Amino acid sequence: MNNDPRQITLTEWDEHYEHLQKKGLREPDYGGVLSRHVGDGNKRLLKLRYDNSAAALRLWNFLLTEEKRLHQARAEGKKIVGVMKDLGTVPVMAYSLDNVAAFYPDGAWWIPCVMEFGAGLLEVADSLGIDESFCPVRAMLGAFITESHFPIPDKLICSVGATCDDFSAIAQRLDALGYPIMWWEIPHRRKPESDETAVKLPGGGAAPKSQIEFVMSEFKRIKVVLEELTGQYLNAEKLSAGIKKANQVRRCLAELRNIVFTAKLCPIGAIEMLVAEMLAIHFCSDQNETIIVLTELVNEVKSRVQFGKGVLNADAVKVFWINPVADLQVMNLLEDCGGRICGTEYLFSHALDLIPENVPAIEALAMMALADPMVGSSVDRAERICADIRRFGSEAVLISRIPGASHCALEGKVITEAIHAMLEVSVLEIEVPPVSDSIHPTLCTRLEALIETTKRRRTK
Ligand code: SF4
Repeated sequence: MNNDPRQITLTEWDEHYEHLQKKGLREPDYGGVLSRHVGDGNKRLLKLRYDNSAAALRLWNFLLTEEKRLHQARAEGKKIVGVMKDLGTVPVMAYSLDNVAAFYPDGAWWIPCVMEFGAGLLEVADSLGIDESFCPVRAMLGAFITESHFPIPDKLICSVGATCDDFSAIAQRLDALGYPIMWWEIPHRRKPESDETAVKLPGGGAAPKSQIEFVMSEFKRIKVVLEELTGQYLNAEKLSAGIKKANQVRRCLAELRNIVFTAKLCPIGAIEMLVAEMLAIHFCSDQNETIIVLTELVNEVKSRVQFGKGVLNADAVKVFWINPVADLQVMNLLEDCGGRICGTEYLFSHALDLIPENVPAIEALAMMALADPMVGSSVDRAERICADIRRFGSEAVLISRIPGASHCALEGKVITEAIHAMLEVSVLEIEVPPVSDSIHPTLCTRLEALIETTKRRRTK
């Protein structure tokens, strides 16, 4: 910890950056002043508040240079794999091979927010018949057509079956537009029957062995496709090494989440934690760097906790956040209203759990894919959420509905009822559009009500 922790604006970061440089700041080649990313059209950055540590600077620079990194990978002759929808499993296979960069085109989800609609991606999606009745992932279509963001992947691999209607429809449209996709099926996870062999999954829950075997057969197909693409043999040894490396990332992230969510004083804000969690999905296109970035964050928060320093008031209400938020600024808003994040379920909790290392690699990956919270029922998801609420001592729950998302129409009600049946915590459901400025007063009123209700509950 090299300065007093606090949250600062982008403009304040400019001055602070100079100060850190004078004190001998050392940065990787993608480092630099944060405000330069606004020049790429990322206007929303001007409205966010950031952690003032060198570790957070590195995290943001790492995130905001991913497109450049992918273009560089292409220039260096690496194969680019666009993995779609499964959020966290197929990249482990891809990164087990040399000279591959795998990323989620789904990440275009956040472009309308970060560029405040400036990229025009949603208009492109509209023109292709994918309108606002779909979730913001439709921005991905625009990113492919305009080719102004990520490089067009050499291979696209997408899960179907137990996936949301939005993604299935959009990916099918993409395929029809001339971007061929290798489809693999993830079945809807069901509880094992009494006469079936049950397999315990990472993160809790179970699936019938027959489903694990089916997903293994799908992963064997993906393995062949990756081998053909790269001209390398993805043997069990390589895959196991890939799993170990992915687990290194997951261990780091688990430590970070544990320290931050259970600390007496919140040592780092919600936005940085969201970005850190996203690194686990595909390592922001550089696995080794992901480990360094996360390790620096862990060291920073450890030292803050040790010195009793934090970035929010000591009485901030511990909130468990469900679903990724379409507008990042709302995480700052929750903190302004007196909350802090202590527990999250951003649709990819299976990408945070450790991958089993005591079973054959393909089987371990099949277990992870079936542990995806989105391939089972909302009640299953709520059970996992409740277990995490207990673990982190969260006092309230916020469900942020995603505009247009097919699963959001009813899941909030189901999850709320399940939480109320198991725990005594307040639950608030809000809907957040990619740019939420016009509804900030309403959002603030609702968030303040959640915070006040929860504080009153403390005194009972
Ligand atoms: S509907 Fe939900 S799960 Fe599907 S792509 Fe959109 S955010 Fe992801």
